Amino acid sequence: MGTWQKSDWRNKPRVQMPDYQDHEALATTEAQLSKYPPLVFAGEARRLREALGAAGRGEAFLLQGGDCAESFQQFSADGIRDTFKVMLQMAMVLTFGAKVPVVKVGRMAGQFAKPRSAPTETVEGVELPSYRGDIINDLDFTPESRIPNPGKMLQAYTQSAATLNLLRAFSTGGYADVNQVHRWTLGFTASDKAERFRDMSNRITDTLDFIRAAGVNSDNAHSLHTVDFYVSHEALLLEYEEALCRMDSTSGNWLAGSGHMIWIGDRTRQPDGAHVEFCKGVLNPIGLKCGPSMTAEDLKVLMKTLNPKNEMGRLTLINRFGAGKVQDHLPRLIETVRAEGANVVWVCDPMHGNTIKSSSGYKTRPFDLVLREVQEFFRVHRVEGTIPGGVHFEMTGLDVTECTGGVQAVSDEDLSDRYHTACDPRLNASQSLELAFLVAEELTA
Ligand code: PEP
Ligand code: MN
Repeated sequence: MGTWQKSDWRNKPRVQMPDYQDHEALATTEAQLSKYPPLVFAGEARRLREALGAAGRGEAFLLQGGDCAESFQQFSADGIRDTFKVMLQMAMVLTFGAKVPVVKVGRMAGQFAKPRSAPTETVEGVELPSYRGDIINDLDFTPESRIPNPGKMLQAYTQSAATLNLLRAFSTGGYADVNQVHRWTLGFTASDKAERFRDMSNRITDTLDFIRAAGVNSDNAHSLHTVDFYVSHEALLLEYEEALCRMDSTSGNWLAGSGHMIWIGDRTRQPDGAHVEFCKGVLNPIGLKCGPSMTAEDLKVLMKTLNPKNEMGRLTLINRFGAGKVQDHLPRLIETVRAEGANVVWVCDPMHGNTIKSSSGYKTRPFDLVLREVQEFFRVHRVEGTIPGGVHFEMTGLDVTECTGGVQAVSDEDLSDRYHTACDPRLNASQSLELAFLVAEELTA
């Protein structure tokens, strides 16, 4: 990485970042965070990069999911457990469909800062700065709440550390046992509405029965009893990222200590901008959101900048075009990647291109559009002979009503029942698992 410094981003144009007024408080917070332990370790980030490399070659499949924005107020052990639980269920179904290991990455333990489409929002004639995530300001619609407060970075760090601690315990403490995970899934497919997935869950039952009979069980096979679970977030708030950046003593390379994988959003991926400058210097696997406005020229420069050694697993292109638009954009990006001979992992985010306003006024995403974008993603890769490496969802294990459709048939009118997201609408537990079954069908097709 030569002479790259973790503060170099400060000399580059920045967008979507708060303009802190209290410089003293900011400096104090940064100094404090710089002394705290990193949340993740270099060896873990390297292991994830290898796992993602396998996904890029079709030897694994990525499942990335979690909240649009983590919240201080809604933080709870049950919430973390339920999202972890449904991700394991999804991973098992996807493993069965893909017949390769599923790499599990939460949008968790650091997913707090949000880019916004407008700098202000107006409610009943009152205009205030936009909410930018709990690490920056507060959701309440008052002038004081919307002032960026650097001290909130410390609470975000603490919550991330507690989240990661719980995830590490769940991953290895017996909660992730395959037999238990499958029992939960059988609960879902027992309902009449999910009948169409019963055949696949019965085949998983048979497989588990068979391997148990053959003498492979949780007591003697570590991999049936524990999982590798990684965390990721959008590296938007660069003061926070820089403060948690650490030199890896074994390699001498820099690590973003805030999470295993970080990504660059569709609004902050300017090739000469601050976010690209920070991400290029750290050893973690990097995600790059690619929306309809991604040009071939920008993609070329970004691939060279972010992955100069062209390592498979270093760079994941997270496509988010919208249902009906994949055919317009994915083939041209595939052509660019091919022309460059670049190694990338192709991942589908079917959430961010499919946000609409419901008749009841809520921001929502219809399940059918989400599914359609995933199907279009698979179809293009089949035609092009390239590899669909994974999926990226905004989801929760809680029983919310934020996206419409699915076997539970959430309607526009139902949205007000349990609409809890601080930012974008999430698939609930049932919709998430249903989508996993449908993606598994694509993977076997
Ligand atoms: C997000 O992932 O929450 C997000 C803002 O995505 P994008 O940058 O793709 O719009
Ligand atoms: Mn979002």
